[in-house]
Amino acid sequence: MNIYADNAATTRMSRAAIDAMLPYLETEYGNPSSLHGVGQRAKEALEAARADIAAVINCTPKEIFFTSGGSESDNQAIMTAAERGRRAGKMHIVSDKIEHHAVLETLKKLKKQGFEITLLPVGQNGIVDASDVEKALRDDTCLCTVMYANNEIGTVQPVERIGAICRERGVIFHTDAVQAVGHIPVDVQACGADMLSASAHKFHGPKGVGFLYVKRGIKPERLIEGGSQERGCRAGTENVAGVVSMAAALKESAAHMKENGERLTVLRDRLIKGLSAIPHSALNGDAVKRLPSNVNFCFEGIEGESLLLLLDDKGVCASSGSACTSGSLDPSHVLLAIGRVHDVAHGSLRLTLGEDADEAQIDYIIGATAEVVSYLRGFSPVWRDLCAGKKQFIL
Ligand SMILES: *Cc1c(COP(=O)(O)O)cnc(C)c1O
Repeated sequence: MNIYADNAATTRMSRAAIDAMLPYLETEYGNPSSLHGVGQRAKEALEAARADIAAVINCTPKEIFFTSGGSESDNQAIMTAAERGRRAGKMHIVSDKIEHHAVLETLKKLKKQGFEITLLPVGQNGIVDASDVEKALRDDTCLCTVMYANNEIGTVQPVERIGAICRERGVIFHTDAVQAVGHIPVDVQACGADMLSASAHKFHGPKGVGFLYVKRGIKPERLIEGGSQERGCRAGTENVAGVVSMAAALKESAAHMKENGERLTVLRDRLIKGLSAIPHSALNGDAVKRLPSNVNFCFEGIEGESLLLLLDDKGVCASSGSACTSGSLDPSHVLLAIGRVHDVAHGSLRLTLGEDADEAQIDYIIGATAEVVSYLRGFSPVWRDLCAGKKQFIL
């Protein structure tokens, strides 16, 4: 069996997204800034895509800015709020410990520039407490950035409450919704976001293209100097084919979101139940307030990296954390933040289902994982110590 269960890292492009893209590579390749017909047709396609995307997340087309993806959108949003803050003498930012590196590294850069950063903890369930946000906001807070849904453990944050709190206090609220858009309902009015990041390749669009919603009245900071594209806020010839394709992917995801979400939730819970039967294992993140596609487990006494390499041999593509931390020996900052100790955090497995998953695949994954975990424990010195009582089981 061949099962791709790493959809939080990236997704397969949908047929609709590929088909939408091709004309803009082949015949409609004009530059939207050109005044001739070919250019103007590209411009029209770009603006139609903007309107389609705006409709899905409930904003106006002028509030959508195209970017190169989730990382750029996060950088753009944070730098926009920070520069406004700097001008107003407000140099405090509130965020949390389980953000994506695109957010955390940008905040680290700002810290070096003199900003004060408060990173809120999360509960053992991987959820930020909205009342912690309320307590952390100060008169000099220029930004609160809390992700919509976590990319490793899938937990969905109380963004509507956080958005309402920020609005009341007059603090800009940004949310990294890269894992949410196209998968669960996202409405920028309902969640009270002033800025929201999304990335096409996480919802069956192409890589290297995304968008940032910026509420009317906030002018995005120019990170890239040059021409006056994107209303003077982001220079560079637009990725017309990518943008058109992203809009097609998003429209399709939105049209099937409800049924896909319901079906995936059943499959997710079947997978959670099956993996829970493996001794000394534990689900990471809240069992209910999580994305329909996300399953993340820790298995005591093994290395997540070996687990996923052996699963790959059995045809299952999984991950041990985020794609960005794989290859490094540090355990996931998200798992540490929910209280997993280093040893346990190292034995993690993330399975993120695609819309094409079915029961047979789920059962195959459960069987394969149980087999590989037991095989690895067979020659794990840590497992031997645990069984001999030289070390205490944690899970
Ligand atoms: C993937 C991801 C990003 C980065 O998006 P890119 O388009 O790959 O730059 C940012 N935040 C979250 C939560 C993600 O899952």
